[in-house]
Amino acid sequence: MGPKKRGARKRTSEEALGGEKHRDGNEEEAEERGDRRRKNRGNNKYIGAHVGIQGGIWKAVGSCTEMGGSSFALFLGSQRSWKRPALDQTAAAKFREQCSLQEYNPAHILPHGSYLMNCGSPKEDVFEKSQAMLVDELSRCSLLGLNLYNFHPGSSLGSITTEQCVAKIAGAINHAHQQTPAVVTVLENMSGQGSTVGGKFSELKGIIDKVRDQTRVGVCLDTCHAYAAGYDVAAEGGVKAMLDEFDQEVGLHYLKAIHLNDSKGKLGCHLDRHEDIGKGHIGISAFRDIVNEPRLDNIPLILETPGRPGFEYAEQIELLYSLCEKN
Ligand SMILES: [Zn+2]
Ligand SMILES: [Zn+2]
Repeated sequence: MGPKKRGARKRTSEEALGGEKHRDGNEEEAEERGDRRRKNRGNNKYIGAHVGIQGGIWKAVGSCTEMGGSSFALFLGSQRSWKRPALDQTAAAKFREQCSLQEYNPAHILPHGSYLMNCGSPKEDVFEKSQAMLVDELSRCSLLGLNLYNFHPGSSLGSITTEQCVAKIAGAINHAHQQTPAVVTVLENMSGQGSTVGGKFSELKGIIDKVRDQTRVGVCLDTCHAYAAGYDVAAEGGVKAMLDEFDQEVGLHYLKAIHLNDSKGKLGCHLDRHEDIGKGHIGISAFRDIVNEPRLDNIPLILETPGRPGFEYAEQIELLYSLCEKN
């Protein structure tokens, strides 16, 4: 299941027409969130959310600021089509300008890859299309001034072995690295649903081992996926234990980001069902440990939760920052 798309707040007709700006509750709230974002920089935790790109990719930046986020994720185009129009140069320039105006460091922006891709597919046509899309997405990142790119490794569809699937994924990454400059490909851990690869840290390590330029590969740990795959982050000391295990099996220097999601499913259920923070089987204390974990300083910590009315991203970001002991 994926992050929910979100757009920027609609401007009032007066604002849109350039008329006298009248302040409403929403604006004051947004301003307070902006202040809080500046204040939160002191604790080195960059908490944010997946934001929508409807109406123009640059709008994602303002949406994040409005919800008081310090980091964000976004898609780089439509999730429905393999053939997408090229990224508009003017839109990309506006995006870069907004990031700089609103003081977002590219290190805290983590684009999410298209769900259509399967770089481990045993079907040759799907593999070819996925490989081409990976190149296209990395090129989009470069154009946007971004240097991280997160995607789901892939699936064997049950018709090739995990090792063969791992080799295909690494092959697609090596190919994309050759075609594009500098962007770091960030593998997301999976819930272990069906025949997806990347539920176990050892599988992520297997891919990394086959990547030629290891300065351009990393991992994003999704808390819901980890829990569903059997890593018990909900247990006392569970977050630290998971990071220790990750460090031993993969290496902490590969950890580039965290997806902050509670889980609708139980430990080891292998279901990819995100829940709002503190409302699922993981529970609030694991998230308190995460926002106070020094090993997670200075990397994007990104919500992909349902964000139900009254407990949307802004409220969940506020809650998470309130748990930071350095505040
Ligand atoms: Zn994902
Ligand atoms: Zn995720």
